[in-house]
Amino acid sequence: MTTLHDVTLIPGDGIGPEITRTTLDILEAAGAPIIWRECIGGVTAMETVGEPLPQATLESIEATGVALKGPLTTPIGSGFRSVNVALRKHFDLFANVRPAVTILPAARYPDVDLVIVRENTEGLYAGIEHFIGMENDPRAIAESVMLITRYGSQRIVRFAFEYALAHGRRLVTLVHKANILKYTQGLFLEVGREVAAEYEGRVEFDDKIVDATAMQLALDPYRFDVIVTENMFGDILSDQVAGLIGGLGFAPGANLGERAAIFEAVHGSAPDIAGQGIANPTSLLLASCLMLDHLGEAPVAARVRAALQRTLDEGAARTRDLGGSAGTVEFGDAVIERMERPTS
Ligand code: NAD
Repeated sequence: MTTLHDVTLIPGDGIGPEITRTTLDILEAAGAPIIWRECIGGVTAMETVGEPLPQATLESIEATGVALKGPLTTPIGSGFRSVNVALRKHFDLFANVRPAVTILPAARYPDVDLVIVRENTEGLYAGIEHFIGMENDPRAIAESVMLITRYGSQRIVRFAFEYALAHGRRLVTLVHKANILKYTQGLFLEVGREVAAEYEGRVEFDDKIVDATAMQLALDPYRFDVIVTENMFGDILSDQVAGLIGGLGFAPGANLGERAAIFEAVHGSAPDIAGQGIANPTSLLLASCLMLDHLGEAPVAARVRAALQRTLDEGAARTRDLGGSAGTVEFGDAVIERMERPTS
C-alpha cells in the first residue's frame, strides 16, 4: 500500500498561488502520494488574519515536518520582517541547499551542475541591527552585526561535506571574505579548514574569496562542484548561478534543519507580473522534486523531471521569461502531456 505524506502547503503571495496551482496539477499527474495541508503566510496572511506568520501555519509545519512554500512578499525598508527569515529561525533551518543544473536547451552555459550550500541563520541576516541617533537625527547611523559562530560554521561546513559524500560530489569550495573581515569571515574559514581535514582523501577542498568566485563563476562555472558559504554571500551567489542556467525560473531551494524541511523557489513573488497567469512555474516545480527526493519518493521526482525536460527539449511550451508566449497553465499542461503514467 502506498504511504501518503502529509505536507504543509503555503501558496504564498504575488505569483505564488498561480505557480503553486500548476505545480500541484503536475504532481497529481505524476502520482505524488501527498496530502496537502494548506496554510497562509506573508502579505496574504497579514490581510486575512492580521499577522504575517500565523500560529496555525507554524503548528502545521511542526506536525508535518515538511512544507512546500510559494514566494512571500517582504515590505522593503519598513513593515513586517521577512517571514522567510522568521521560518528559518523558528525551525532552525540552518542549511539552504540550492542546486543549479542546466536543463534549458541552448542555454548560454550548457551542462552546469553545481550546488550552493548557504548558511541560513547567521551572518548579516541574524537580525541584530539598530539606528544610532546623533544631534537631531535619530537615524544618523545604521548598524547591522555580522554574526558568525564556531558552532554554526562547523555544522554548515560539515553538512556540505556530508552532502558531497551522499551525492557523489568531488569538491567542496568554501567561499569567504576573510582578507577584509578577519574576525567573522576569518572564523568561518578557520573552522571550515578544520572540518575539511576530517574529510581529507574522501572529498577535495579549496577556499576562495567571494569577489574572485563571482568572476570565476561567470568565466568557468565548471570548476565548481559544491560551494559552501555564509548567509549573504550564498544569497547573492545563488542568484548569480541561477542566471547562468537560464534565470530565476530554474532555481529551486531547500531549507533544511533537524526538525523541518521547507522547499521553495529561489525567486520572489514577482509583483510586476502577478495575476497575469504568465509566470514560469519551473522553479517551484523543481523545488517540489527536491521535496519528493527528501520524502523518499525519488521515482516520482524523476518522472516529473523527465516530463519537464521533454517539454523544454521539444520547445513544446515556453513562458515569456524564456522568450515564448505560453501562460503558466499552458506550460503545466504541456508537462502533464509528456508525463510517463505512474504504475499503480
Ligand atoms: P522577484 O524574484 O520576485 O522578481 C525579480 C524579477 O524576476 C521580476 O522581473 C519578476 O517578474 C521575475 N520573475 C521572478 N520569478 C519569476 C517566474 N517564476 N517567472 C517569470 N518571471 C519571474 O524579486 P523581487 O522583485 O526583488 O522581489 C519581490 C518580492 O518577493 C519582495 O517582497 C521580496 O522580498 C520577495 N522575495 C521572496 C522570496 C521568497 O519567498 N523565498 C525570495 C526572494 C524575494
